[in-house]
Amino acid sequence: MGIEKISFETLPDPGLVEPTDALVKVEQCAICGSDLHPYFGRERGIDRHTVMGHEFVGEVVEIGSSVKSIKKGDRVMSPFTTSCGACYYCSIGLSCRCIYGQLFGWRENGLGLHGGQAEFVRVPLADSTLIKIPEGVSNEEGLLLGDVMSTGFYCARQAELKPGGTYAVIGCGPVGLMAVCGALELGAEKIFAIDFVDDRLAIAKRLGAYGINAGKQNALEIIHHHTEGRGVDGVMEAVGNHAAGKLAYDLVRPGGVISVVGVCNDDRFAFSPEQAYTKNLTYKVGRCPVRSTIESLLPIVQEKKYPITSIITHRMNLSDGVKGYDLFANKKENCLKVIMTP
Ligand code: NAD
Ligand code: ZN
Repeated sequence: MGIEKISFETLPDPGLVEPTDALVKVEQCAICGSDLHPYFGRERGIDRHTVMGHEFVGEVVEIGSSVKSIKKGDRVMSPFTTSCGACYYCSIGLSCRCIYGQLFGWRENGLGLHGGQAEFVRVPLADSTLIKIPEGVSNEEGLLLGDVMSTGFYCARQAELKPGGTYAVIGCGPVGLMAVCGALELGAEKIFAIDFVDDRLAIAKRLGAYGINAGKQNALEIIHHHTEGRGVDGVMEAVGNHAAGKLAYDLVRPGGVISVVGVCNDDRFAFSPEQAYTKNLTYKVGRCPVRSTIESLLPIVQEKKYPITSIITHRMNLSDGVKGYDLFANKKENCLKVIMTP
C-alpha cells in the first residue's frame, strides 16, 4: 500500500490464464527479508494492491490443459520465481534468469505476478516451476526450500567453500543462518557469524558458528586474530546494504571470494575497482536459482541433518499478517521467521 503499510484485503480469486498454469490452494506462506525491501520503500515500483509474498506451499486445485507432470491434489512447493526449464539459462542451472521467469508477489504497471500470501496463487509454467513435496519433507521444510534454505546453501556454494577453510557469514536472518548450515555442509572448519541481534547470533552459535555482535565487538580484529592477520577465505553476505558490503571487503583475505545474496539497491559497490584488484578478489552476486538448486538439497532435508525449521519463531493466521510484517520487520518478540496459514 505504501511505505511500512500493508493491509489484509479480500481480492477476487486468481484463475488459470495460460494452459501451462496451475492454481495452488496455499496451505502455508511466509514473509521473507526480500518482502521488507518494498515494505521499507528501499525497492520501489510495486503496484498497490499487489498480493505480496513468494514463499508458499499448498495443494494443486486446478491445472491448465497442457500441464502434464503436476496433477490436481499434488502437495507442492515452489521457487520464488517461475521458470520454463528449457531456455538457455534454465539449461545452465540459472533458473532465476529464465527468459520467461517471473517473481511471485511483484507487479509493476499492471504486469507481473501476484504472490503467495493469499488463499490461492496462480503458478505459470507449472510443470517446470512446481515440485511435488516428497516423502519425508514437511510443508514448512518445503516452504523454506522454496527460498531461504536454497538461497543460503547457494550462497555457500557460490563462496567456493573448501573443507577446512575459515569463512564469515554477514547477517544472521533466515538466509544467513541457512548459509551457516550450507557452509557446515561443505566442510567449513570455522564460521564467523556476524549480526547486531544477539538472539539471532545465539541461533548461529547453536548451529556451530562463532558469533560476533558487530555493534559491540570489532569483527575485523577478532577475525584477524584467528587467521594470522589474513582474513577469511570467503565471505557470505546475506544483508544487502553498503555497510555489509564494506565489511565483507574488509574481512576477506587476498585471493578470497565474496558471495553476496543480500539484495542491495545501491548504485555502486562498497569498495573500488582498485581495492578489488589489490585483493585479487572474486565477487559473486545475485538471485538464487532455486529451481536449479532445490532438488540437490532434498536428501539433506530428508535426513534432518540441520534443524532448519528452528528458524521459524512465529506461526499465525494470514489474517494477522499485518502484525506479522511488523514483528518481522522490526525484530519484535525475537521474530526471525513468520509462517502464516490462510
Ligand atoms: P533479514 O532482514 O531477516 O536478515 C538480515 C539480517 O542482517 C538481520 O538479522 C540484520 O540484523 C542483519 N544486518 C543488517 N545490517 C547488518 C550489517 N551491517 N552487518 C551485519 N548484519 C547486519 O532478511 P533475510 O530473510 O535473512 O534475507 C537477507 C537478505 O537476503 C535480504 O537482503 C533478502 O532480500 C535477501 N534474499 C536474497 C535472495 C536471493 O536470491 N539472492 C533470496 C532471499 C533473500
Ligand atoms: Zn524470499
